[in-house]
Amino acid sequence: MQTIKQLIDQLYENEDLSDELLLRIIDEIDAETTPYLFERALDKKSLFYKDTVFMRGLIEFTNYCKQNCSYCGIQGQNKNVDRYRLSKDAILHCCEEGYQLGYRTFVLQGGEDPYFTDDRLIEIITAIKTNHPDCAVTLSVGERSYESYEALKKAGVDRYLLRHETASKELYEALHPKMSFENRRECLFNLKKLGFQVGAGFMVGLPNQTSADLVADLRFIKTLQPEMVGIGPYIPHDETPLRGSKGGTVEATLIMVALARLLLPQALLPSTTAMGTLDPKGREKALKAGANVVMPNLSPTDVREKYELYKDKICTGDEAAHCRQCIEGRIKSAGFRVDMGRGDHASISEPQDALGVQIFDLTQTL
Ligand code: SAM
Repeated sequence: MQTIKQLIDQLYENEDLSDELLLRIIDEIDAETTPYLFERALDKKSLFYKDTVFMRGLIEFTNYCKQNCSYCGIQGQNKNVDRYRLSKDAILHCCEEGYQLGYRTFVLQGGEDPYFTDDRLIEIITAIKTNHPDCAVTLSVGERSYESYEALKKAGVDRYLLRHETASKELYEALHPKMSFENRRECLFNLKKLGFQVGAGFMVGLPNQTSADLVADLRFIKTLQPEMVGIGPYIPHDETPLRGSKGGTVEATLIMVALARLLLPQALLPSTTAMGTLDPKGREKALKAGANVVMPNLSPTDVREKYELYKDKICTGDEAAHCRQCIEGRIKSAGFRVDMGRGDHASISEPQDALGVQIFDLTQTL
């Protein structure tokens, strides 16, 4: 029988592995072999992105949500959330500040807020694109119709983040009352079809989640081939039906980040705020396990605390400039280089550094 180290080598070479063998890695990897997995994942990332880490400016523009995902602090039924939505001017102001700080991607994320109709979103996106034609806009506002996604794409949205959350139908249905497992997946395939750079992703450590469920998550991303994959630990929130549950660990999440990197070598993998919440060095650890994106917050400080998806979320009091500086310091201290460019997927454009200098080295991919 192959050792775990041999399985990691096989995965590195073939960029795939059977479900059965992925399950073996997840179940049997130990403290001695884990650093090897991270090392191989980082090697793979370096082939396409060298030592760069992309920065995105995150704007959490509404915490109204019509859904009731059982794990999420801003779910519609939580009466103790102080709800807010940013005006168009406030969003444009965040972008302006972000632009001055060097950001060239803005990620607009929010709950599923019916106030933000296609027309309202299109007005905002058009204004951002007019003010900053050199910037990419990423939207993350949940499930919408094919026609809505199409209209948003036409308005200039470049990327769309919609985590699949879990690829287990049973687990998905247990966590998402009145939502459809099939519809969420269909949304992702629709987004792909419409030509967005698509971000799927999942949480690690959900109540009742098994290793086989995590293998299903990996298989799903391998099949969908998203350009981005957001993987973060589930962190409980006291005002949700899952209060008191255990939550995921940094260690288990790092393993999934590294496996995702080996399965999708060119993917844009964020080092998530949730990792930094569980461990002060969590984001640096994720970068060392193959992640290559960070998303510092550009939201106005007076609304930050209100976008509380899980407890003790970090950076809620920090000004945008402080966040940028802090994260840049972390990236550098972990041995990486900050890239403030648009940071498109490697298949779309060869990565460039902030000065527009090509950093892609063909010899490394041959
Ligand atoms: N409404 C949009 C959607 O459904 O994609 C975007 C906003 S949603 C709050 C962003 C992500 O937060 C979700 O995809 C979920 O994975 C994550 N999230 C929510 N609650 C969480 C928790 N308790 N722990 C960790 N991540 C959580």
